[in-house]
Order: sequence, then structure tokens, then C-alpha cells
Amino acid sequence: MNGRFPVDAHTVNLSRRAAPLGDSRDVQRDLAAGAVLRLQAPSRAVAAIIVGVVQLFVLIKSSGSTVATNALGDVATIVSAYVLAIVLLHAPLWRRTEASSELVMTVLTADLAFVFAMTAATTTATHYERALLGMAVIVHVANFFFGARHAWRVLQLGVLGYLGLIYLAMSRHARVDVLEEFWTLALCAAGVSLMIMQATGVRRRLRTVVSLFQSAEDGDFTPSYDVAADRPPDTVTRVGMAYNRVRDQLSSMVLTDPLTGCLNRRGFDQSLVREAARATRASGEFGLVALDLDHFKLVNDTYGHPAGDAVLREVGAMLLASGRGGDIVARVGGEEFALLLPDTGAAGAHLFAARLCERIRAHQFTIGPQNAPVKLTASVGVAVGAPRGEPNFAAVLWSRADSALYAAKHANRDCVRAWSEETEYSGEHAVIQSDLRSPASKR
Ligand code: GH3
Ligand code: MG
Ligand code: MG
Repeated sequence: MNGRFPVDAHTVNLSRRAAPLGDSRDVQRDLAAGAVLRLQAPSRAVAAIIVGVVQLFVLIKSSGSTVATNALGDVATIVSAYVLAIVLLHAPLWRRTEASSELVMTVLTADLAFVFAMTAATTTATHYERALLGMAVIVHVANFFFGARHAWRVLQLGVLGYLGLIYLAMSRHARVDVLEEFWTLALCAAGVSLMIMQATGVRRRLRTVVSLFQSAEDGDFTPSYDVAADRPPDTVTRVGMAYNRVRDQLSSMVLTDPLTGCLNRRGFDQSLVREAARATRASGEFGLVALDLDHFKLVNDTYGHPAGDAVLREVGAMLLASGRGGDIVARVGGEEFALLLPDTGAAGAHLFAARLCERIRAHQFTIGPQNAPVKLTASVGVAVGAPRGEPNFAAVLWSRADSALYAAKHANRDCVRAWSEETEYSGEHAVIQSDLRSPASKR
């Protein structure tokens, strides 16, 4: 029988799990995009001014006294126009933090326009690759901060821009080796595409890790990171493995009762909801057993609290050893235990409960340093049901088992009572026969 949380219940398969961003995450990303644009605005302006100044210096140095004044003027105009565009485009972001996808794309297009305009104004066709370098940087920025969609669009625009640059040079009758230029462009586009795809995969897997942490935050430790799906394993795999280790420790801390090793109330509630969902899918039924030790206070009062703890540990071990592999055992209160019996109908659950009652009654507990022999009994309530998608089925079934348990208490303890619709209203819960010699004693 299982007192442990079924931590391997499901593993997140990365190829399936990486869900597209939903509405709320889009909003989050738009907010993030606005903040990123705002942070980057000064860097954009400063970078453009530095590039402009260095470019002027290079022009003056390399051309000596024959430097064309219109080239100097072009650089000043391009830098000023770009800085002005950045200021204007970012102006709305001082009042609000959301940035639309169009705004992001317009800023990235301005970056590209700056790179291509500077290249066209200051260099000959032999150095046009400089524009491709600039484009690769902008694609990287787009991919890293704003996602693959923007990166692909920047790449497309960049390729068009480069073709435009070659066309411009040819129309000015400059010497252009078209085949070489195309080959350079193709190599650059292929390399940048690989970069985007690789980063997209990493981002998707990181999002999976984030969703695992979100589940854990909600107390759901069911999913784990699918390490085997990462071929070859990389840094994200190591993050996933670290998550799995933390999850194993946390799930046992959060969901297990340290005294008995059974599930605690939280673990039991989760198991109950999960079993209700599973039974709904399988059109099956399951049983719940609520068990409370009788007059347990007397044990504490007579032998002390540590001795009472030892008894609880022993009862937990007995319950864990008493069922089938898939059964779940939890300590849901001080001396109250709950058992979840998957795929178990009324007859099987009742018989099982009766056996538990018998077993506890027959057991000789030895307590304290003197190993004092103590006999205990338990009152047990049983409820069985077949969920059909009712949202609060688990809670209802548990309250039925609990109500049957109180009926057992009222019937002078040391017995089993079952919940049934007929008895619910009369207050007379069905009495369970505990004849273990019955031929139908198999669950
Ligand atoms: P009843 O037959 O009506 O269930 O009587 P009871 O004495 O078992 O129930 P009651 O609710 O009056 O008392 C439960 C006792 O369980 C009180 C408390 O001392 C004891 N208890 C609760 N949690 C623990 C625990 O963790 N360790 C120990 N040793 N005792 C506990
Ligand atoms: Mg009790
Ligand atoms: Mg109690």
C-alpha cells in the first residue's frame, strides 16, 4: 500500500508540453517588452552616437584631406534621424509599460535601417558584409528579448535590405561580385536561422521548467522534468535535473506525515482529486475509508505523548502494509487515518474496512520503556462512489466516509459503518459484517 506521493505519476515531455503562450502570458510578455524597450532606449542612442563618431573619425583618417563632405553630412543625418526616431518611438513608453508587437517591430526596423543606411553611406561594396554583422546582432537582440517571431521578421527584412544594398551599388555602377555577395548572404542567413531555432528550443524548454515550478507552487508535484528527452543533455537539462531533486525532497516534506510516513492531509486531498479525475476518465469507482482510533486520548494520558506517537507510527505501518499497491494511506488528523482504494466497489471496500477493524482489535501494541501491552480498537467509516465529472465529487465522498465514521463512533465504536443514500437521511448507516471467513473475501 502506498503512503508515498506518486512522484513519478507523469513526466513532462518537452516536445508535447511546451504550450504556446496563452493570453495572460502574452500580456506579461507585452509588459516585459515595454520595460525592455525602455531600458534599451539609452543604449540604442548612445551606441548610434558612438558608431557615428567612430565612423566620422575613420572617414577623416582614411580619406585624408579629400574626405567627401557629403559623407560626413550623411553620417550626421543618419545618426540624428535614428536618435530622433528612438526618442519618438519610446515616448509613449514613459506613460505606460505595454509595448505592442508593432512598436517592437518598428524599433527593430529602425535599428536595421540605421545599420544599412550607415553601410550604404560610408563604405564601398567590398565592405557590405558589415551590414550583415549588424543584422545578426539585431536578430540576436530581437530573439533574446522579444521572441522568435520578431527575430524571423528582422532576418527577412535584413535579407531584403542586403539585396537592396547590392542593387544600389550596381545601379551606381560599383564593382560588385554578385555571386560572392549572394553566397555571403546565404551563409549569414543560414547561420542566423540556426541561432534562432536553437534559442527557440532553449526558451521553450525553460518555459517548461517555469511551468513545473508553477505547479510546485500550487502544491502539485506530479509532473517532473523529462531528462531522457534531452538529447544531447545541456545546461537546461541540468536545471531540470536540479528541479527533479528539489521536487522529490519538497514533495515528501510537503505531502508526507513525518511521524508515520503516510501521506498528510494535503497529500491525501491531492490524491483524492486525482483519483476522482482518473475514475471519471475510466468510468470506474473507488472507495474511501475513514479510520479513527478509539479513546486514543487515554493512551496519551496513561503512557505519555511519546508512547502515543509510537502507537500512531505502528498503526501507520499496519495500514501501509494492509492493502494493495495502488492504495493510498494518509494520516489526516491526530489519530485519524484515511485510505483511498482505487477501482474498489462497495463489497470490496466494506470487507477491507472490516478486516482493518479486526486487525487493529487483534493487535497487541507494546508501549513505553516497560513494553506495556495495550489493546486498541478503531471506528471506521466507508463510502464508495463512481464519479461522473462532478466538480466536488472527491469532497462529497470524503464527507460521506466521515459521516459514516461518526455513525460508527455513535454505535459504541470498534465497528465499521458504510455510507449509503438510504441510510444518509435516516441517520442509520449500514452495519458492515466483518466475517472474514466469508467466501467473497477477495477485493
Ligand atoms: P474517540 O474514541 O472519540 O475518538 O476518542 P479519542 O480520545 O480518540 O479522541 P479525542 O478527539 O478526544 O482525542 C484525540 C487524541 O489524540 C487527543 C490527542 O492527545 C491525541 N493526539 C492527536 N494527535 C496526536 C499526535 O500527533 N501524537 C499523539 N501522541 N497523540 C495525538
Ligand atoms: Mg479517536
Ligand atoms: Mg479523532
